[in-house]
Amino acid sequence: MKKILNFIDGVFVEPKTGNFLQSFNPAYGEPHLLVADSGAEDVADAVHAAQRVFPEWAGLEPGERSRYLFRIADLIEKRREQFAEAESADQGKPVWLAEAMDISRVIHNFRFFASAILHSTDEAMQTNQNCLTYVTRRPVGVAGLISPWNLPLYLLTWKIAPAIGFGNSVVCKPSEFTSHTAEMLCEVLQEAQLPAGVVNMVFGTGPGAGEALVRHPDVPLISFTGGTATGRAIAQIAAPMFKKLSLELGGKNPAIILDDADFDRAIETTVNSSFLNQGEICLCGSRIYVQRGIYEAFVSKFTERVRKLQIGDPRKRETFVGPLVSRQHLEKVESFMDVARNEGAEILCGGERPNLEGKLKNGYFFQPTILTGVKHESRLQQEEIFGPVVTLTPFVSDEEALRLANGVSYGLSATVWTNSLPRAHRMAERLEAGTVWINTWLKRDLRAPFGGMKASGIGREGQEGSREFFTEAKTIVIEV
Ligand code: NDP
Repeated sequence: MKKILNFIDGVFVEPKTGNFLQSFNPAYGEPHLLVADSGAEDVADAVHAAQRVFPEWAGLEPGERSRYLFRIADLIEKRREQFAEAESADQGKPVWLAEAMDISRVIHNFRFFASAILHSTDEAMQTNQNCLTYVTRRPVGVAGLISPWNLPLYLLTWKIAPAIGFGNSVVCKPSEFTSHTAEMLCEVLQEAQLPAGVVNMVFGTGPGAGEALVRHPDVPLISFTGGTATGRAIAQIAAPMFKKLSLELGGKNPAIILDDADFDRAIETTVNSSFLNQGEICLCGSRIYVQRGIYEAFVSKFTERVRKLQIGDPRKRETFVGPLVSRQHLEKVESFMDVARNEGAEILCGGERPNLEGKLKNGYFFQPTILTGVKHESRLQQEEIFGPVVTLTPFVSDEEALRLANGVSYGLSATVWTNSLPRAHRMAERLEAGTVWINTWLKRDLRAPFGGMKASGIGREGQEGSREFFTEAKTIVIEV
C-alpha cells in the first residue's frame, strides 16, 4: 500500500515516530493509503527547516517568488486529472467535481497570489509640512497551516499561496483523512525547484501533529480551517503565546427564499447549495427558510428534484452524491436522524444509508435528506451536521426570516433569493454572516474579504485579509 511520507526540507522522509495511520477510500470502505502519523519531533524538524530558509526566501524580490507560484500552478494544471482522481478517492466527492471545483481553484489560488503580490502597495501620509508617515510590511516568519478534509487541497493552497507569496515559510498539517493531494503537491514543489524548506508538510492527527505545531514557540502565526470546537482549543493554546491567529470555522448557513424569487432558479441552486460535495462544504445552506405563500410548492418541487440525485461511484460522470468522508462522520450524520425521529420531525426523503451494490456496499454513503417540522431550538437547526441533511421551514415576514436566520451561534454565510433589490439589500445588511449571496451561491472573488462572524471564526482571508495576516505592518514617522 502506498505510503504518504512527510516532506521536510525539500525531501520525503519517514516520520520519526515510525508510525503510520490507515487512510480509507470512503466509496469502498477499504484502506488505500498509509499516512505518516507524525509527532512533535517531526514538527520540530519541519519548523527548523522553515526557519533556516526564511531569511533567504523573505529576501527575494516579489517578482521572483511570483515566478515560483506561477510555475507551481502550471505544473498542477498539467496533472489536474491525476489530482482530481486522488482527491476523489481520498475524500469521496465525484471526480468531475474535484476537477471542476477543487483542482481548478487550487490552480487559481497560486495564480491569483502570484499576481496579487506584484500589485500590493503601502500607504504614505503627509502628516504635516515637515512630517511624513509611511507603512512598511514584512513577512512574519514560519506560518503553521492546518486544514480540514472537505476541500483538502483547495483550502490548504488558499493558505500556502499567500503565505509563501508574501515571503513566509510554512509548515502544513493537512487532515489525516485526506493527505494524498497534499503529498502530490510536494512532488510538484520539487519539480518547480522551490527552495527546500519553504513548504514543509507534516502528516498525521490533530492531537499528534497539529497541536505540536500550534504549541511550537517558533511558529508565530497559525492559520486554521476546521471545526469550531477545534478552533476554540487552538485559540486557548495560541492566545497566551500572542500568536497571530486566523480561524475559519463551522457554519449553519441559512438559505432564505422570498415569495418574489425566481422560483426555478432558486430550486436548482438550492439543490446544489444543499447537497454538493454531500453537503460537506462549510458554505452549504443547511437551513432553508421559505416564505409561506410559496412554501408548499417549494417543498414539493425541491423534494422531487432531490429524490432524483444520483448516489453512487464517485468515478462516474453521472454521480452527484458520493460517500461521506469517513465511517465516523457517517455515524455522526446518522445520529442526527435519531434526533429527528425523537423530536417528531418529518423526513421527506432520505434519512438512511442507500442500498448500493458490489464494492460500494461498504462505502460511507448517506441519502440526501430533507426534514420538516423542526423547531428552531432543535439541535438539527442549531448544530452543524456537515452532511447531506437540510431542514425546510416556513416564515411569514422578512423580519421573521432574519430572526430565524440569525438565531444560531454561527455566522459564516447566507443566501437570499428575491427579485426585489431593496429587499435583497435590507436582508443582506442585517444577516449576521461574513458572506451573503443574493440569487446565487458559492461564487467567489479572491479580492473580497472572506471569513465568518460569531462562532464561525476570526480573521479574514482574500487579497487584503491574507496580506494583513501574513505580513506585519510597521508605521514609520519621519520629521525633517
Ligand atoms: P477538524 O476541526 O476536526 O479538523 C481540522 C484540522 O485540524 C485537521 O487537520 C485536524 O486533524 C486538525 N486538528 C484536530 N484537532 C487538533 C488540535 N487539537 N490541534 C491542532 N490541530 C487539530 O475539522 P474537520 O477536518 O472535521 O473539518 C470540518 C470542519 O471544517 C467543519 O466544521 C467545517 O465547517 C469547517 N470548515 C470551515 C471552513 C471555513 O472556511 N470557515 C471551510 C471548510 C471547512 P485531523 O484531521 O487529523 O483530526
